[in-house]
Amino acid sequence: MSAICSQSAIDAKALRADFPILASQVYGKPLVYFDNAATTQKPQVVIDAISKAYATCNANVHRGVHYLSQQATQAHEEAREVVRDFIHAASSDEIIFTRGTTESINLVAFSFGEAFCQPGDEILISGMEHHSNIVPWQMLCQRKGMTLKVIPFDEKGCLKIDEYAALLGPKVKLVAVTQVSNVLGTINPVAEIIRLAHAQQIPVLVDGAQGAAHLSVDVQALDADFYAFSAHKLYGPTGLGVLYGKRALLEAMPPYQGGGEMIDQVYYSHSTYNQLPYKFEAGTPDFIGTTAFTAALRYVQNIGMDKIARYEDELLKYATEKMQAIEGLHIIGQAEHKSAVISFVIDGIHPYDLGLLLDKLGIAIRTGHHCAQPLLESLGYEVCARASFSFYNTFDEIDTLVAALLRIQKMFK
Ligand code: PLP
Repeated sequence: MSAICSQSAIDAKALRADFPILASQVYGKPLVYFDNAATTQKPQVVIDAISKAYATCNANVHRGVHYLSQQATQAHEEAREVVRDFIHAASSDEIIFTRGTTESINLVAFSFGEAFCQPGDEILISGMEHHSNIVPWQMLCQRKGMTLKVIPFDEKGCLKIDEYAALLGPKVKLVAVTQVSNVLGTINPVAEIIRLAHAQQIPVLVDGAQGAAHLSVDVQALDADFYAFSAHKLYGPTGLGVLYGKRALLEAMPPYQGGGEMIDQVYYSHSTYNQLPYKFEAGTPDFIGTTAFTAALRYVQNIGMDKIARYEDELLKYATEKMQAIEGLHIIGQAEHKSAVISFVIDGIHPYDLGLLLDKLGIAIRTGHHCAQPLLESLGYEVCARASFSFYNTFDEIDTLVAALLRIQKMFK
């Protein structure tokens, strides 16, 4: 273990000091937080940014000529530029603030659907999607008389790219696929998926809820048409997300919601709409959240997303090896390219019992269907346990988890 630590690009023990919650005790035990795929903890700079924004520049954005409003607007628009840089978009006009990945996908399902979809058309998703990248498309299909088709995956948890290519055709209006599975951990070959779709002029939406938190993202290099992610999984505040979309597509799509900010002129007979990105941002945006997100993105950029990915990969490999050695423990998702997520079951122990007992030992994992019921069902499970890692987790914490699993297993025997 020490050999692995000494090669690591990241000093996790030092970085932990930036996250006040990680010093907590749970039932008298030091907190081991392994539920990072659900949401990540916040560094002090993000917590401070929220309180500083309320204390120093709380005023509604874009609407006021007064000083505070201008300060708030400047901070909010700076956040858009920081996000643009983080995912390497061509223009900040292509960065739309939403409430999260879920709202970003719903926006595309509604607005793209209105602009481009007809009865008989198809939407293609993968067999490892989160409910937020299934249900909005299902609703679109029901609204428009379209069909939802699913790309299968193999026993390791890798998408079957040949079968995907065969599903592409003139009826497919959009491909929507996750960059990283929140259950299997699989890192999908999204560049290849996009290349194959574009060969047939089909746009692709990438669900980056997990991807953006663990990998360097370059939407232009990927040539993604849409990319959706959430701030709270990226060390930022809850209730805030991003939709990236290529300008030409966004220009051709109608607004998702109506209200203030998204309009140019309003008459009783009709309205004209604002330019990008405001056309898709009806109402008062979460300008305190965007300011805090700036702090979160600068924080991770300061560490380096490549370093984060390398260190989390070391954690993943270490945990996989240790957990695989536990008799009766089965890891769900064995793709070669995986992100730091380990879903698993243990013979003879219900995942809920496992989660509750681990909690009593101070270890937070997630149990349930992980908002991916069709995926789990296709693998023959209703629920499973999931440990997911961040750069602030340590090899020692993995040892603590493994020792706890062995102890619980003994109790059940
Ligand atoms: N997509 C994936 C792959 C996810 O893991 C999640 C959340 O766990 C979502 C979408 C939804 O994200 P949010 O609830 O932040 O909108």
